[in-house]
Amino acid sequence: LNYCTEAEKKHVNVGTIGHVDHGKTTLTAAITKVLEKNGLAKYVSYDQIDKAPEEKARGITINAAHIGYSTSKRSYAHTDCPGHADFIKNMISGVSQMDGAILVVAADDGQMPQTREHLLLAKQVGIEKVVVYINKADLVDQEVLELVELEIRELLDDFGFDGSNSPVICGSAIKALKGESPDLGEKSVLQLLDTLDKYIPDPKRDLTSPFMVPIDNAFTVPGRGTVVVGTISRGSLKKNGEAELLGFDLDIKMTLSDIQVFKKSVPQAVAGENVGILLRSIRLKDIRRGMLLCAPNSQKLSNRFKASIYFLATNEGGRTKPITGKYCQQLFSRTWNAPCRIDLDANTNMLMPGDHGSVYLTLMWKMAMVQGQQFTVRENNITVATGLITETLD
Ligand code: GDP
Ligand code: MG
Repeated sequence: LNYCTEAEKKHVNVGTIGHVDHGKTTLTAAITKVLEKNGLAKYVSYDQIDKAPEEKARGITINAAHIGYSTSKRSYAHTDCPGHADFIKNMISGVSQMDGAILVVAADDGQMPQTREHLLLAKQVGIEKVVVYINKADLVDQEVLELVELEIRELLDDFGFDGSNSPVICGSAIKALKGESPDLGEKSVLQLLDTLDKYIPDPKRDLTSPFMVPIDNAFTVPGRGTVVVGTISRGSLKKNGEAELLGFDLDIKMTLSDIQVFKKSVPQAVAGENVGILLRSIRLKDIRRGMLLCAPNSQKLSNRFKASIYFLATNEGGRTKPITGKYCQQLFSRTWNAPCRIDLDANTNMLMPGDHGSVYLTLMWKMAMVQGQQFTVRENNITVATGLITETLD
């Protein structure tokens, strides 16, 4: 047996997604119940999870329960949102980023609208691995289970997940919670946990993709040149390597003359490190906080994007009136902000406070934004919407 000590265990974030009443909260409670026997979790009852405290994040109120438990290999933080609206807000605002998701589908219902909507958002925020738990297996016979499994695999493919290789587990969360029918109950939960350990990879810093450094700061070192400062968000940079600085309509090609970490010159720096980079031939006046330093030709500069957006409800501090398109405000992302026009999707007439939908953004300047990048929209410094980029348009 390959047991780790608690300190050695990798930490992984997961969460339950799926249509209302399909059994997400029951399953979450059942996981803690089953693991408690081995001392790997403290049992958290259904009522405790559903009474999740309200989270205040960026002015948005989200009800979410964060439950901690361990397997022999890992420690998990598990998010369960009580309502559909909470789930949407959680995903769009990025409050609890998941490394993988547990899709709960009730066998007697099959896929439903919120099953699809949650999968779409999971894809948009960059979740790659989905483990399916077909719940309520106590209510249907084997044939129905097989049909639901087929249907869900197709659905996963439709949303860009790996339908044929995604693990599918059938069981009954309520039986596991009550300690009844061990095969449908407890065993299915243990199988689910084992699958999470195996199918969801350890969260890793991405060291191999083309590098990106959002610029936090820039200054001049007399006699040497301009230095930009930021944290490498992915990839690795090499001294004397080529790079591009993008943003505010500018696209500047350059060489990384020197790289410093903790004020010492280094030949190379990797994702997660905070670096100072000397750009010998660049003038300070061309550099602005919020530009993106990246590998040559790896990112597109554009001022038009497609996005998923959530407008805060009035009682969350949001607007009092709907938007109907041609809505102009300041957009904030990472360390920059820019005037932006928001237009609605052709088949949407308006978005009310509390609504979410798909929109088109037109920025005052061309910027480099990546898929899944989060932003907020503020009116007079009050956050009225939160969103995420789904596509860069030409
Ligand atoms: P959520 O909205 O997805 O969190 O769903 P809940 O966990 O609140 O469950 C919705 C309803 O389904 C509750 O009445 C549960 O008792 C019931 N339920 C959950 N799991 C099972 C199951 O395995 N079998 C049956 N028959 N009912 C279940
Ligand atoms: Mg629930």
